Amino acid sequence: MSKGFGESDFAQVQSERANSQSIREVLERDREQADHARDRRAQGAFGVCEDCGRQIGDERLAALPDATRCVACQAAWESTNR
Ligand SMILES: [Zn+2]
Repeated sequence: MSKGFGESDFAQVQSERANSQSIREVLERDREQADHARDRRAQGAFGVCEDCGRQIGDERLAALPDATRCVACQAAWESTNR
């Protein structure tokens, strides 16, 4: 086994340990957002920005099926919720 392999393995374990808390937070937020998106879908509002009421856009929805805000509103929301 090469020396380099062991070192990068170790570094990965360290960084995973450091990130486990923030990963949990991100996963929790993703789950809440997925639930929220499902509710929006059930109300027939899928693909419509919940803040400004405009279409979110096919490209954004393809990349983020759980998105409930357009790019501009999401950026505004994140700047006030961080
Ligand atoms: Zn919007």
